[in-house]
Amino acid sequence: MQFISRLFKEKFSQSYAILLIFLIPVLIIANGLWQISVYQKNMNLELKQKSQLVTKVFSDSLGAITNDINLLQNRINQVKNDNPEIDDIIIISPTKSDFPIVAATDSTNLGVTLTDSEFVKVWANNQTISRSFTDKNSQPPKKFWLVATTVNNSSNLKQSILILKIDTSKTDTLSRAAINQSLVLLVFTVFVVFLLLINYFRFFEYFINYRKLQEVDKMKDEFISMVSHEIKTPLATVKGYLDMLFQGLTGQFDENTKEHLVKISANVGRLDLLVSELLDVSRLEQDRMQFDMQPVDVTIVVQNVLDEIGDQAKNKGLAIEHNKLTQTPPVFADPDRLHQIFENLIGNAIKYTPKGKIIIHYELDKGQLKTMIKDSGIGMAPLDTKRLFERFYRIKNEKTMNISGTGLGLWITKAISKRMNGNIVVKSQENIGSEFSVILPFIKDKC
Ligand code: ADP
Repeated sequence: MQFISRLFKEKFSQSYAILLIFLIPVLIIANGLWQISVYQKNMNLELKQKSQLVTKVFSDSLGAITNDINLLQNRINQVKNDNPEIDDIIIISPTKSDFPIVAATDSTNLGVTLTDSEFVKVWANNQTISRSFTDKNSQPPKKFWLVATTVNNSSNLKQSILILKIDTSKTDTLSRAAINQSLVLLVFTVFVVFLLLINYFRFFEYFINYRKLQEVDKMKDEFISMVSHEIKTPLATVKGYLDMLFQGLTGQFDENTKEHLVKISANVGRLDLLVSELLDVSRLEQDRMQFDMQPVDVTIVVQNVLDEIGDQAKNKGLAIEHNKLTQTPPVFADPDRLHQIFENLIGNAIKYTPKGKIIIHYELDKGQLKTMIKDSGIGMAPLDTKRLFERFYRIKNEKTMNISGTGLGLWITKAISKRMNGNIVVKSQENIGSEFSVILPFIKDKC
């Protein structure tokens, strides 16, 4: 059921992403084209109103001279000369039966009689009409507004019809340029959005892969945890029987057998450590590690570790100095986890120091207690110190070749110290030695 719901959710997210990829550019294009068409409509309306206004104002100025044809002709010639946008002006003086042209800027129109019904309407209803048309014969085709209105005399009696042919191609060219620019911008925007969406789709793919990886990682952790638990029980039994053998509870055995048993015991110990570390890794990664936080005296924990593993140093001929402060404030930590941290760090110092000594000393700095484990061992190169706290990272050279380990200890100790609000840092020089510092905030009022 859970699987089906997850599958459904994934399929839904995928379809949603695909829908977005198509919907967003389509909406942007639709919005852009709609804006352009609204702009064109408004522009047309504006031109129409302006043309009608110009014609009306001109017609009013003609009212006083409407009976004098010569004066009319001069005036319309002058207006056309002064205004290059006006392409043609015609004055019709309607009679009872027809509409003859009595004055015109184009002399070939003089005397022509018009029969268009729209002029009949203008004259009959005393109204203003306008329409736009394109002259396809001119190159490039030109757009005009034709406006017709009546000319009234001073007594407001209609005398003639004024027809103005206004060339709007200049405004049209400008608005076409503006439209072209916005179309280019629109194409560019859609292109950018497309790129963004492709990127988004890629991120989405990464996200799905990341989720799958997380699931696989979780399965791996669960698998490691399960296998480690399963190994732990038979391992404990083997250890138990080994102890019985060493204690002589099953009878005596010769030196040769004892040697073999020591080797078996060492390898069982290594296997046990590996299983414990794998369990710790899986607990830390799944945030299942329990911490019993309480005030702890770090020097006591360090001393306990030294009491437990100090013999290993002695066997190698290494000296250990434990330089305590006169007064060490307690830290807030889990004593067992802290023990684990120092066991690992002091254990490593012993493991990677062929001769010389190990010094453990303390420092109080800015509310933190720094416990430093300094050795005179093999040290490490700067590049290695950077990767030291990675899982399974082991430095491989002729000095470490014969030293066994898992490469998990430092990762675990750092993760544990971080869970206890602390940290571990390292300073090292090849062939000189290393210094690992465990930094933990101390409890101030107990200082
Ligand atoms: P392990 O010791 O089991 O290999 P760790 O995580 O404890 O794993 O250490 C990782 C590596 O860091 C080791 O393999 C070793 O090369 C290096 N290292 C750790 N402590 C020291 C040290 N005190 N001196 C030199 N090298 C060290």
